[in-house]
Amino acid sequence: MPSQKKSNLVVLGSGFAAFSLLKQIDTNTFDVTAVSPRNYFLFTPLLPSTTVGTIGFRSIIEPIRTASPNVRYYHARCTHIDLEGKHVVCQGEVDHRQFRLPYDLLVVGVGMVSNTYGIPGVTEHGLFLKDTHDAQHIRRRIIECFEQAAQPGVTPRERKRLLHFVVVGGGPTGVEFAAEMHDFLREDLEEAFPDLAPHVTITLLEAADQILNTFDEELRAYTTRLFQRRRIRVRTGSLVIRVDRESILLRDGTEIPYGLAVWSTGIGPTELARALPFPKDRGFRILTDEYFRVHGTESIYAIGDCALIEGKNFPATAQVAQQQGRFLARHLKRVERGRSVDAFRYRHYGMLAYVGGGKALADLENFKGRGFLTWLFWRSAYLTRLVSLKNKLRVLFDWFTTFIFGRDISRL
Ligand SMILES: Cc1cc2nc3c(=O)[nH]c(=O)nc-3n(C[C@H](O)[C@H](O)[C@H](O)COP(=O)(O)OP(=O)(O)OC[C@H]3O[C@@H](n4cnc5c(N)ncnc54)[C@H](O)[C@@H]3O)c2cc1C
Repeated sequence: MPSQKKSNLVVLGSGFAAFSLLKQIDTNTFDVTAVSPRNYFLFTPLLPSTTVGTIGFRSIIEPIRTASPNVRYYHARCTHIDLEGKHVVCQGEVDHRQFRLPYDLLVVGVGMVSNTYGIPGVTEHGLFLKDTHDAQHIRRRIIECFEQAAQPGVTPRERKRLLHFVVVGGGPTGVEFAAEMHDFLREDLEEAFPDLAPHVTITLLEAADQILNTFDEELRAYTTRLFQRRRIRVRTGSLVIRVDRESILLRDGTEIPYGLAVWSTGIGPTELARALPFPKDRGFRILTDEYFRVHGTESIYAIGDCALIEGKNFPATAQVAQQQGRFLARHLKRVERGRSVDAFRYRHYGMLAYVGGGKALADLENFKGRGFLTWLFWRSAYLTRLVSLKNKLRVLFDWFTTFIFGRDISRL
């Protein structure tokens, strides 16, 4: 009996949505090709911890090739989708050579990029916190600021500027970075730079009137109080209108000199998602039905941050993207086999955030927790959610070595 030809499934992306699909997809049913400019999966919830070296970058990534050995992978980015010709145009990430890939089914899971909202100077002078190279830049810049401030001949004004670490955006990522920065300062930098430590300031700027606005009110108030007790100034109602090389300008005219500015205000569409001729919402998210099929198409699906089921309002989070990827892998197989399918149903597990000093927040459906025990819960929850045993052991080892020896302060 002649074997039936497998459908050709092309998956764009290697983030939470695409990766969970690739881990679940039945490669006996589909001939799967993945395309992504990032040849690894990144566990973003622990990315803020890598900016100061609490854990290493390589501890939270998983190469696509080894994680999904039955999937063909191309280290490239998709630049165009030809809907009529049913192929994607890709560009090699290293040599920029173009090639085409035909598809029977296409899954778009390209995520989002950091949003600058068109504010002048953000791209040139701000540092984002979205990927490992961003965390590497931040880590290097922190050490540079301290080393520069320690040089002879630096004026007190210049020293104050260099040691001012500003985070723009009071969402969970901005808060977690400020918390990690404070830990780094208190546990390592104060010892290495005792003369400089009293001059350090950390400022968290938020345009809205509160930080962590997706969290429970009591947890938000707790975090604000906690930060106030430390050297973290929380300035709500502070809208940034320009970022210059050494200072940030607020709408009320205040100029804030800084040594490091981390920009963590939200997300916007990738170039590809922006250009795709699909129906989108106001945030440029591709609109789909409850099975993730893109409106107006037969064979294109979109999942994760870059997509939205019309009429729903799921947050742009890892747990949403992961559940969508898993669902779609099962759904595609059932459809291929002519079976009936149920629509996607999201299960919300709650939110966690690290607030520094061995304290964390947990905003779960039936439990609101904060403090040390919640921090232990935070650590164990993320440890279990890491995608491989290697990652789990590495992260455990990193936490242990940081506890024993402290963080490394070399400028690499
Ligand atoms: C620092 C940080 C901390 C976070 N913490 C949490 C948390 O604690 N809990 C939580 O639930 N969520 C958290 N998030 C949000 C979470 O990471 C995202 O919601 C999730 O990654 C979305 O998954 P995704 O697959 O849609 O996109 P991503 O994970 O962003 O992946 C997108 C993928 O698409 C690839 N890509 C981009 N353009 C193209 C192209 N043209 N062609 C092919 N591939 C392309 C990218 O390289 C990447 O592999 C955090 C995010 C950040 C940045």
